[in-house]
Formats: sequence, structure tokens, C-alpha cells
Amino acid sequence: MKSVDEHLAEILATVRPLAPIELELEQALGATLAEEVSSPVPLPPFDNSAMDGYAVRAADVADVPVTLPVIDDVAAGSVELRAVGPGHSVRIMTGAPMPAGADAVVPVEWTDGGTVSVRITRSATAGNAIRRAGEDVEAGEVVLKAGTVIGPAQLGIIAGVGRRRVWARPRPRVVVISTGAELVEPGSPLLPGQIWESNSFTLTAAVRESGGEGFRAGAVGDDPAVLLDRLDTHLVRADAIITSGGVSMGAYEPVKEALSPLGTVRFEKVAMQPGMPQGFGVLGEDRVPIFALPGNPVSSFVSFMLFVRPALDRMRGLPAGMPEPVTARVTGPLRSPAGRRSFLRGVLASDGTVSPVHGQGSHQLAALASANALIVVDEDVTEVPEGTSVEVIPL
Ligand code: AMP
Ligand code: MG
Repeated sequence: MKSVDEHLAEILATVRPLAPIELELEQALGATLAEEVSSPVPLPPFDNSAMDGYAVRAADVADVPVTLPVIDDVAAGSVELRAVGPGHSVRIMTGAPMPAGADAVVPVEWTDGGTVSVRITRSATAGNAIRRAGEDVEAGEVVLKAGTVIGPAQLGIIAGVGRRRVWARPRPRVVVISTGAELVEPGSPLLPGQIWESNSFTLTAAVRESGGEGFRAGAVGDDPAVLLDRLDTHLVRADAIITSGGVSMGAYEPVKEALSPLGTVRFEKVAMQPGMPQGFGVLGEDRVPIFALPGNPVSSFVSFMLFVRPALDRMRGLPAGMPEPVTARVTGPLRSPAGRRSFLRGVLASDGTVSPVHGQGSHQLAALASANALIVVDEDVTEVPEGTSVEVIPL
């Protein structure tokens, strides 16, 4: 049997970062910057008021109360500005350019709010409530490095330096196909022998949470020809494909039957629980990676976390490897089969303990849904007493 680490290493040796493309800002959320973004101008581009108030000469408001004539009114976006002479004031709004002559802004709260003249009751020192040009970014300064994942704030600064498009590695497009003649779309009634199809929902959501674009291609039965046809349809628009089910040792294993003859996908036993049967390889001219995950719902989810998620990181141009474990004290005894690494479902608490959930079967989806962590038990350990420190992968 192959170890979990060997299987992941083989996947990461095959999967490549996606080529950067030029993305419109609307498409760039979650993409990974492939260029350095810098600002062509200083930000702010000009000195401006940080508050609604009055632009004055600080010397004129040193002794308060004082009443000054208001000679102009400047809103944000104003261009024609009258200079503020000695003893004068200009009503000014947040973001409006500072008029010449003024060296301070008196917030409206420190005044009577007058529009012809204003009574000021509190002094402002020079520079008060002024946002200086270049205070955030100097002209030419790099604001984002290549390799940065574009989140909402990063999108904001890209737009804020005047860019409409950026070069970035896009979110990988991942098509998810479930197999199994027993599967029925949720929302439809169950006939005897059937179950509601759930893996494609879990896996598509997991793709999205891992920075990819997940597409549910729905369920196919157990006919390898139908699966091949479905793969053919989706291959053109996929950066990766995930299948679930049909990779075990029984009869009617459509994924194995369809893909083994191609010679580019390997089906192996990986020394883990849950999730022993695993397929991985590439499809088509573009060598699109395909992850053939086992069908049991817990197995397919754990396999995703261990193998697909790091592969998506690699495709996004990010550091990729095993999920980082934390250490916790286990609140009950654990058992694990010899020679296989176990990933038991548990609840990680803020007091540094982890409690295995009731129901560790690989079909027990409700137990998985009640967990927030995987407890890792190494290959050579079969029993873990209560109170032991264990490695835990937070979900
Ligand atoms: P398989 O790997 O196809 O032998 O499936 C293993 C177990 O997982 C069987 O009990 C299947 O009914 C179940 N299973 C397979 N695919 C799904 C799915 N998409 N949703 C829910 N259960 C599934
Ligand atoms: Mg099946």
C-alpha cells in the first residue's frame, strides 16, 4: 500500500500552477496575483480634508471663541478653489481638496455650523484633520506583491490605483461528477434501494471554500460509457475533475472500468482510513488532473481535504502541502487499524481538547457534519489512551 504522503507527493509532482490570464476586476476575487501592482500616483493624490468642517489658518483660531467670515464652500470633487486669506474660512467637506492658504480644518462639531460666518469654539493646530498627499501610497510604490490572493480589500486597492484588469492565476475550475446507480437527486422521492446523492454538493462546496470554482455535473449511474461521455463533455472547461464512487474492489466500479484502460489514471490503495481506494491521473491532451475519490461520503470529503485541496493550492500558485495540524488532548480513547493512518472525526474545543464524535463509520455523514476537525492517528499506532496529545487537522 502507498502511504498518504507518497500519494500526495505524486499528486503535487503532477499538478502545475495555472497560467496567469488578464482578469477584469469583477472576475478577480480569489485569484492569485501574478504581477506586482503599484500606484502611478500618490494616494491620496492631493491634500484633502479628513472631516466636514472649515479650512482655516491655524493662527486665526488660536484664541477661541472667534467668528470668521465663510468665503467659499468646497465639496469633494471641487476644482476651482479660492485661497483662504488671513481671518477667512472656507466651508469644506470630507475628501475635498485643501484650498491654498489654509493649514488646518476645524471640524463642524467645534463650530455653530454657520454658512455666512462661523463661530469657532475650539482651537485647531496646523495640520489638523488634513490627509496629506502620498500618506497612504507614494507614487510608484508597490501596493501588492505577486503571489497575493485577491480578497475584497486587495480588489479595493487594485481599483484604488486605477487599474481595471490584473494579471492573475484564476480560480481553478473544477467539475464534480458523482457515480452510482443508487443515487437520486435530493428533492426527488426515494425508491427502495436508493439514497439521496450528497457527495457532489459537499465536494463542489469544498472546492469553492478552497479557492476554486466548483461545477456540479450531477450524478451518472454505473455505466462506464456514460461516465466517459460526461467526462468528454466537461473536459474542455475544466482545470481539474473530481469523481466520487466507483473505485473500489467490487463489480460495477464505473470510474475504474472507464479510466483504467486509458493508462493515464492509476487506481491504488492508500494506507489511510477512511478513504483507502484512490485514483489519480490526467485526462486528455491538456493533461487535466482527475481525482477519483471513493464514494463513501466521509471518505470522499477526507480525501478532498488531504489530496485535492493541496492540489488546488498548487494550481493557484500558493504553497501546497499537508494541512497544518494543531495539537490537542483527546477526551476519550481512540482505535486505529495497524498500518493505516486514521483521520477520525472530532470536535476541537477552545480549551485545547478534542473529542471524537459518536459514529466513526465512513458512511456516517451526520457525524462528519457535527465535527470540526480530523484527529490524526499514525500508521504504527493502534490505540491512543484518553488524555494523550494528538495531532488534529481543523476543518
Ligand atoms: P462506491 O465507492 O461507489 O462503492 O460507494 C461507496 C458507498 O458510498 C456506497 O454506499 C454508496 O452508496 C455511497 N455513495 C457513493 N456515491 C455517493 C454520493 N454521491 N452521495 C452519497 N453517497 C454515495
Ligand atoms: Mg458506486
